[in-house]
Amino acid sequence: MNKRLGMVIDQERCIGCEACSIACRIENNTTNFWIKVETRGGTQKDTPKGKFPNLEMDFLPKLCNHCKNPPCVESCPTEALIKREDGPVLLEKDLCTGCRACIDACPYDVIILDEGNNIIEKCNLCAHRIDLELEPFCVICCEGQALYFGDLNDPNDKISKILSERQVFQLKPKEKTEPSIYYCPPRPKKRL
Ligand code: SF4
Repeated sequence: MNKRLGMVIDQERCIGCEACSIACRIENNTTNFWIKVETRGGTQKDTPKGKFPNLEMDFLPKLCNHCKNPPCVESCPTEALIKREDGPVLLEKDLCTGCRACIDACPYDVIILDEGNNIIEKCNLCAHRIDLELEPFCVICCEGQALYFGDLNDPNDKISKILSERQVFQLKPKEKTEPSIYYCPPRPKKRL
């Protein structure tokens, strides 16, 4: 069976520090944010919802889901986006015309148009590192050790074990894209 490389992101451990998104920019030599760390709480970034002392705030890093059924790949008229057999959805920059079809097709708002170069950019799951048997750089740099990378098709892999032991969810499951990025939700907050 082919590998299905993916990630688990533990919201309980994510402190919203943005180390992942900064690491991604450095590793991929881009000025764009391929990982967006969203605040789940108040109406603005890094603000909680509720009234003191009953405040709630969690973080949700969003990146390309490297979907099993990626509508972005289907939509690309120049075949600039490909789904690799082991999971990553990759961009062939030379074939991209910046037509935005993939941006419209992706339900997750994780494709960025680099207007200066008129091509799209997105997370590539650090395929260049994976090929050297290294983990994605965001995983290495996560301060809270909230990111786990591995093979979803290997029952002995650490991320498969997390999936079998913890409550997890994918983003927008109704889209039937089968994301390869899973999230562990934060535990309910204890109140005194
Ligand atoms: Fe494509 Fe969007 Fe799925 Fe990534 S999240 S594979 S860009 S449809």
